[in-house]
Amino acid sequence: MSAVPSPVGVGVRPARPCPRPGAGWATVCFRGPGRGGGLDTRTTGALWRTPGGHGPALVRVDAVAAGCRHPAACRHPSGRFPCDVHLWVDTGSPALPRLGEHADVLVSRGPLAPASARRRVSGLLARYAGCSTAVVPGPDRGGCLVGVRTRDGGVEHAVLECGGRGPVVPVHLAAAVVHAWVVSGRPLGALCAVSPLPRR
Ligand SMILES: [Zn+2]
Repeated sequence: MSAVPSPVGVGVRPARPCPRPGAGWATVCFRGPGRGGGLDTRTTGALWRTPGGHGPALVRVDAVAAGCRHPAACRHPSGRFPCDVHLWVDTGSPALPRLGEHADVLVSRGPLAPASARRRVSGLLARYAGCSTAVVPGPDRGGCLVGVRTRDGGVEHAVLECGGRGPVVPVHLAAAVVHAWVVSGRPLGALCAVSPLPRR
């Protein structure tokens, strides 16, 4: 049984261990800690980065309850950066047969070389028609290969830094931020990195 990763950043509490590891609801809020964010507990922080800027994202992971009840969304009104709630499933999880068809995000934990990772995310998006984002760790520590379904039915790929030389954001959290980023209408190609929030 794996635990939800340790917290990073100030004012962010540990996420509680997920009783059903390998799948969950991810709620992503682009309002950072202490800025009136809608997520107050059980969150982990991350930092997104583009060539021209950066900002916080809080991710709350909730277990998938019987009946797949949707978790509560953020309490604040949607603004410039809408928040997102989605279902993610680890492809190595026993939950995959039951939840894979419903997943918005699929995460594969095993690192692959770039060409193989690219084929893997494309294969996952082809196999699971309801899934719009798939992420596979690359061979280098801190890098991920991301695949996002495009409106014309294709797949857009991107390489994302997930920590570089420092602490690495777990792949399911990086995938959550990527998915929320894209569904909010921002271009995947603008996103360079999702890294842990720096400690103050
Ligand atoms: Zn929010």
